[in-house]
Amino acid sequence: MTDTHPVTRVEALRKTYDHGRVVAVDDVSFEVAAGGSLGIVGESGSGKTTTARLIVGLEEPDAGRVFFDGRQIGTGGSRRLRRQRARTVQLVFQDPYQSLDPRQTVGDAVDEVLRLHTTLASSAFAKRRDELLGQVGLGTREAAALPRELSGGQRQRVAIARALAADPRLLVLDEAVAALDVSIQAQILNLLSEIRRETGVALIFVSHDLEVVRWVADDVVVMFRGSVVESGSTADVLENPEHPYTRLLLSSIPRLGWDPADVSQARRDFLAAVP
Ligand code: ADP
Ligand code: MG
Repeated sequence: MTDTHPVTRVEALRKTYDHGRVVAVDDVSFEVAAGGSLGIVGESGSGKTTTARLIVGLEEPDAGRVFFDGRQIGTGGSRRLRRQRARTVQLVFQDPYQSLDPRQTVGDAVDEVLRLHTTLASSAFAKRRDELLGQVGLGTREAAALPRELSGGQRQRVAIARALAADPRLLVLDEAVAALDVSIQAQILNLLSEIRRETGVALIFVSHDLEVVRWVADDVVVMFRGSVVESGSTADVLENPEHPYTRLLLSSIPRLGWDPADVSQARRDFLAAVP
């Protein structure tokens, strides 16, 4: 962690479903430095998405607290408060179709966020919209296009431009490159690192993929069954993993001479040893 103050801090978050029968998130704490980047990794079902939804306020925790700039934030509150929160933190999903209106052009989709979350006069929209689209590598041709006329990578760029239009301090990206080809993934990850450098926006990357996190996150938390089992600087954790689950995740990454049968066995051994 750097010594700048955290933009976001979560403290002992807990979230259950089904009347407490499913513990999705259990005693999760971490912080993200202003302008920093944190990866949240773990296999499917480990509680990553629930953690992301708690941070952005789409879910209310059973226990624990979420802070932005040292102030605690809840889900309720007035329209103005909710809008303030939306300006501070924006969420980008795996599938941008979830957030894009199929009948709305890319330019209009960005304008919509500018209208909602900024005090810009409408006359200033065009300039800001072009700036935002330029930031994610899209031009006037794409601005006039409908979502279905774009590739998956381009749609994810639009989703990122829309998120940035609110001028947030924190972007939470939940498996945001998981549906893209590897070469397109790399482009989007590079783009996000660039945007972080240029704008100072902090990033939380939620991913099942350790390689994605290695690429973009300064710090990492590893989640298993709703809990954080290991955390620290990404370089430290990935070079010298201390928790057996982190080692298991690392050994599951395909590489030369890699044997899936060994990994399956290691996984069974690990789960058998878990209380
Ligand atoms: P991840 O994103 O790491 O795959 P999730 O946060 O989506 O994990 O899920 C964590 C656990 O909580 C899983 O067991 C999942 O089935 C459960 N869960 C998540 N959302 C709900 C929900 N709305 N209702 C019931 N169970 C849920
Ligand atoms: Mg998820």
